[in-house]
Amino acid sequence: MLEKVALIYTDQYQKYDFGPDHPLRPLRLKLTYDLMERLNLLKHERIEIKKPIIATREQIERAHDPEYVEVIKKLDANPNDSSIFPYDYGLGPGDNPIFKGMYEASALVCGASTLAADLVWKNDDIMIGFNPAGGLHHANKKRASGFCIFNDIAVAIHHLKYLKKDIRIAYLDIDCHHGDGVQWLFYDDPNVLTISFHESGNFLFPGTGHTNEVGEGAGKGYSINFPLLPDTSNKMFVKLFRYCVPRILEAYAPDVLFTQLGVDMHYSDPLTQMGVSISAYKDIAQTLYTCTHDYCQNRWIAVGGGGYSMTVVPRAWSLFLARMLDVNLENELPPEWIEQVKKEVPGEDTPYLLWDRDDRTEVQLLSNPELTKKMIDYNNSLKALCDNEFIPNISK
Ligand SMILES: [Zn+2]
Repeated sequence: MLEKVALIYTDQYQKYDFGPDHPLRPLRLKLTYDLMERLNLLKHERIEIKKPIIATREQIERAHDPEYVEVIKKLDANPNDSSIFPYDYGLGPGDNPIFKGMYEASALVCGASTLAADLVWKNDDIMIGFNPAGGLHHANKKRASGFCIFNDIAVAIHHLKYLKKDIRIAYLDIDCHHGDGVQWLFYDDPNVLTISFHESGNFLFPGTGHTNEVGEGAGKGYSINFPLLPDTSNKMFVKLFRYCVPRILEAYAPDVLFTQLGVDMHYSDPLTQMGVSISAYKDIAQTLYTCTHDYCQNRWIAVGGGGYSMTVVPRAWSLFLARMLDVNLENELPPEWIEQVKKEVPGEDTPYLLWDRDDRTEVQLLSNPELTKKMIDYNNSLKALCDNEFIPNISK
């Protein structure tokens, strides 16, 4: 039986748009889809491209407060509705500006992640569902946060719980920012294990994701955080990831793996201070693919997430899709796509390779033995925590 990959895509994703000066530009999704197409991934015999529909209000309200959903609906129709004080809901100039059509655009992202989850859960021949527009992991029950209005991940997880009450889900978040919204929404739930790798909250928004945030009540032990130091390099990140993730997933043995694949740990990302390059994501894709087979019942739901370099996001997510399809790509880019990038994002350095050959932070580390030692000691402390606390907590 062919293990199929469902890619959830529509041009309507372009409507989730906070405006021309906002760092989250929907153009990145179009550039991603175009690169996937140029790399011949979209004609693969194992891929199915599906168009999403908007999530129902009932589906959204499983994760969000009905009053908040109503506020978004009202502002969608009239962004200047004076009966609403937007700051009470995390909305307004800055991170989450109000825009016309915001309800529909946000509900569509929820619908797309829900469709990915639905297809993977209901169809034995669909092993993976990937919604690159998803991953809005900061939104909370009653508040928008960090460019996220509705939490599509939480909506999709609730859909899975609706389909099977006692389903066990491992949620893994590699976005550079802590996956706080998802963590808090399932903080007391042992059936949703949340694992987040991110730049430490001591240095970056949203300021949470410390190792002592372990869950509460019945969910105690089922929230795991790996806060990383700024400038963490490929080798440091990948070694820690490869050591910890398979062990955690083996111990938890979920019914399904749900990943948020934000790629803003890249060294060129304008919003963060990490040293990871695209080759690290290539490696991580391989680990996730293997873990899906070995520990997660052959079911993997993937959503996008952060990533604010218009040339990094398409390359990294194309590599994730290639791994999902078991395709080994050459380290080159289609000339037509390079031309498109030159035209559409003239401000960014033009890439000529699919993944970076250089690794700037590795070089920086080699020339700084003191920093190298600090990084290694810190990572070893996280590995020890994983072995001595995180895994025993979920194995009880
Ligand atoms: Zn992020």
